[in-house]
Amino acid sequence: MRYEGRVFRPPSEAYSLIVQVTVGCSHNKCTFCDMYSEKQFHIRPMKDILEDFQMARDAYKYIGRVFLADGDALIRKTEDLLTILNFIKDKIPECERVTSYGTPKAVLNKTPEELKQLHDAGLQMIYMGLESGSDKVLEYVKKGETADSIVEAGLKVKEAGIKLSVTAISGLGGKAMWQEHAIKTAEAFTKMKPDYIGFLTLAMDGEVPLVQEWRAGRFAQLTPEEVAEEMLLFMEHVDSEGTIFRANHISNYVNLAGTLNKDKKMMIERLKLALDKKIPFKSEDVRNTI
Ligand code: SF4
Repeated sequence: MRYEGRVFRPPSEAYSLIVQVTVGCSHNKCTFCDMYSEKQFHIRPMKDILEDFQMARDAYKYIGRVFLADGDALIRKTEDLLTILNFIKDKIPECERVTSYGTPKAVLNKTPEELKQLHDAGLQMIYMGLESGSDKVLEYVKKGETADSIVEAGLKVKEAGIKLSVTAISGLGGKAMWQEHAIKTAEAFTKMKPDYIGFLTLAMDGEVPLVQEWRAGRFAQLTPEEVAEEMLLFMEHVDSEGTIFRANHISNYVNLAGTLNKDKKMMIERLKLALDKKIPFKSEDVRNTI
């Protein structure tokens, strides 16, 4: 396959065929993110995309899953995405699921009918970043969205029948905003009720603006104990019946996995055990292998 620069995918797409339909992220300004910082965002020529799918078809007998990269594949015109999805249906009939990242802006630019067309053509899940439900935190990290706009985009995805997977970042509000970050993020998830919630934990690495703020002493990172307290507060406030919850990424100090709301008690107990030093926090050495 032909790729431009580094390629990222959600952990659950480890066995998917990845094809870039856009390159980079059209926003590319979040102060904690360097995923696409070296790339100038552009739309990839359709000819190259279809050639890549044909190459994969010729090389592999079975392709069960496809992930459309990069950061916001959904920003492409709907007719382009339909061409790609129909090509996949035609050439890779065994493909069980097609997914992509979608920025809230890209989702809100589509009509409900367009999203429904994409779903009918095979787009089964969109991964979206909430990062925080606090407008203060979102503004601080230059997300370019408000909590309301992200919730609206998430609900629009669900209404089209497309599954919704949303991530947030523990510790993103630092010491100054951790309570607001926990409670407002719980409120946003309560309104959105995504199919999946994934939590990462902020790590101070890479040459991103937030790390520079931290080095300059203007951003105070949470300790592992404070991150656990923040997650406890989140758990106490979230109400998202049936949502699959995962905080078991390498960046998380304490791994959590369960289904909301039924497993909230179990996950709260686990956090309390960590705070009582009965479960070890993941070391920074391990977290730094991200
Ligand atoms: S929108 Fe997503 S990919 Fe783009 S800069 Fe922000 S976090 Fe990174």
